[in-house]
Amino acid sequence: KAPLIAICGRPNVGKSTLFNRLTGSRRSIVGDEPGITRDRIYGEIEWAGRDVRVVDTGGVVPDDEALIPSEIFRQAQVALGEADAIVMVVDGRTELVAPDIELARLLLRGGKPVFLAVNKMDSVELLAGAENFRSLGFRNVLPVSAEHGTGVGDLLDEVFSAL
Ligand code: GDP
Ligand code: MG
Repeated sequence: KAPLIAICGRPNVGKSTLFNRLTGSRRSIVGDEPGITRDRIYGEIEWAGRDVRVVDTGGVVPDDEALIPSEIFRQAQVALGEADAIVMVVDGRTELVAPDIELARLLLRGGKPVFLAVNKMDSVELLAGAENFRSLGFRNVLPVSAEHGTGVGDLLDEVFSAL
């Protein structure tokens, strides 16, 4: 079975956008699609000749204001159980918030290879902002723009090297 990469993070940081960027398909619905239950969405990618599965742990979020902290942590626990590597996504344009810190703590303790993707770094001027997230404690901090694709190749290279 192909190794599994789990994408974790609180709502609205860009998990589904990154998932769609990686899988190159629309297996995960981005944004606020009303009335759809939260679920886990799996996709497949090939990178440097290897097949890997990816899971968007945010699934389909019915309302991006509906931040349910316990759900993020439940999904992270599942990810720690089943995934071979974990990418935590944060919104590089917002301040660090408590759920980011708690989630990072949980993931870093999980014993799996973990990577921090600082998302929404759409321009070079924004790149310095990624440094603010170093305090989360990840050794691997990668600025990306899921929307534009910038940095996503470097992120994949890093993650694949750990599989
Ligand atoms: P999720 O809740 O973590 O799955 O986040 P989504 O993928 O649904 O994205 C939430 C919002 O952030 C959407 O409006 C996206 O268009 C936006 N977004 C995602 N990635 C980027 C990015 O790289 N740059 C910018 N500027 N916006 C992004
Ligand atoms: Mg989503």
